Amino acid sequence: MASLLIKGGRVIDPATKTDAVMDLLVVDGRIAERRVPEKGRGAAPDGRVIDATGHWVCPGLVDMHVHLREPGQEHKESIESGTRAAATGGFTSVACMPNTDPWNDGLSVTEYIVAEARRKGMVNVFPIGCVSKGGLGVELAEIGDMVRSGAVAVSDDGRPVGNSHLLRMALEYTKIFGIPLIDHCEDANLSASGVMNEGFVSTVLGLKGIPGASEEVAVATDLAVAAMTGGRLHVAHISTRGSLEKVRRARQEGVAVTCEATPHHLVLTDQSVADSHYDPNTKMNPPLRSEEDRQALLQGLLDGTIDAIASDHAPHHADEKLVEYDEAPFGIIGLETTVPLIVDRCVRKGGLAPARFVELLSRNPARILGIKKGTLAVGADADVTIIDPELERTVDVSRFKSKSRNSPFHGWTLRGWPVATVVGGRVVHELQPVATR
Ligand SMILES: [Zn+2]
Repeated sequence: MASLLIKGGRVIDPATKTDAVMDLLVVDGRIAERRVPEKGRGAAPDGRVIDATGHWVCPGLVDMHVHLREPGQEHKESIESGTRAAATGGFTSVACMPNTDPWNDGLSVTEYIVAEARRKGMVNVFPIGCVSKGGLGVELAEIGDMVRSGAVAVSDDGRPVGNSHLLRMALEYTKIFGIPLIDHCEDANLSASGVMNEGFVSTVLGLKGIPGASEEVAVATDLAVAAMTGGRLHVAHISTRGSLEKVRRARQEGVAVTCEATPHHLVLTDQSVADSHYDPNTKMNPPLRSEEDRQALLQGLLDGTIDAIASDHAPHHADEKLVEYDEAPFGIIGLETTVPLIVDRCVRKGGLAPARFVELLSRNPARILGIKKGTLAVGADADVTIIDPELERTVDVSRFKSKSRNSPFHGWTLRGWPVATVVGGRVVHELQPVATR
């Protein structure tokens, strides 16, 4: 019987309404027992003991929006490197977007991802299949086949579904399978060739803008179609005040809608494009928005309008990003910076309760995806993330486990880092104390 004792940590598990100092005993990959801390060593004589005194012991974090790039773009990331980055960043499960090469629009790619993740993955991998064949927005993908092979949601992320009739059919299908449709809400005609948020800063910099309305008209369309079908809609990387208001109102009217926000939209604004002198690592889609939008997102975290935080981890090779701002691809990596950014900026400095942090990063994404994760209840899979809320470190992209380095947070000093990650009872990441010499 393989066992692991996690001693003396603050167990934060909203699913069981727990927030207390406890010992957690893991046996054979499951949570076997939760008890008040014992003096001395405690019982796990045959197994390992992790001293979690002063740390948060959370149900394993779930990142519901990552791009693992495999198959086809392994120079950016692979299932192996991406899940290693996830483990280092405190995530025990990731859901990977289908815009690989080829796109994950049928049985064979879904099966490949599931098999490869089983062979080489450090954390649980849940594939997201395409809405449309090849992500082209014309014909529905083989949704049923993909669901039977392990897909937990569908999305054409990287692109919006766009075609409202196709969206309607997709939502009718996904309703039958009980899975959410995740949309990258954007009106391609309004975005045109924009590269950053349309506003004062884009005018000053002379860069072409992407207006907030580009996201908002797509959100409005999607909500209307979701209401008509009764299908479950999840709005990816929501970025504007207007979008958030539409989601809030639709939910009050009974539409089955959830949404996620990214750490970068919560901590940065379009001013970063100017301050960084056109650093391509400030270029992503949706773009960094205004301070007013950012404040609305922070409010949405606190009041429950935002259901989940997801990294939108989007690796690109350094050579691809080292071009002029207009030419650079959209996207930044996030698996290894999400936890410290949210703990430091939103929990420590923004009034977000630790229990709400766990809901946003574990319980809610698990519920949205319909996966049996997000709790430390007795009998649950022993996926555990241990966070030291006092640990201060500086982000150093050269130490990242991801194959890519495209982060705007290099050099930031943040307090609150994951120190151990446990997947199915196995310790897949443990932060070594930095040796002083
Ligand atoms: Zn997207």
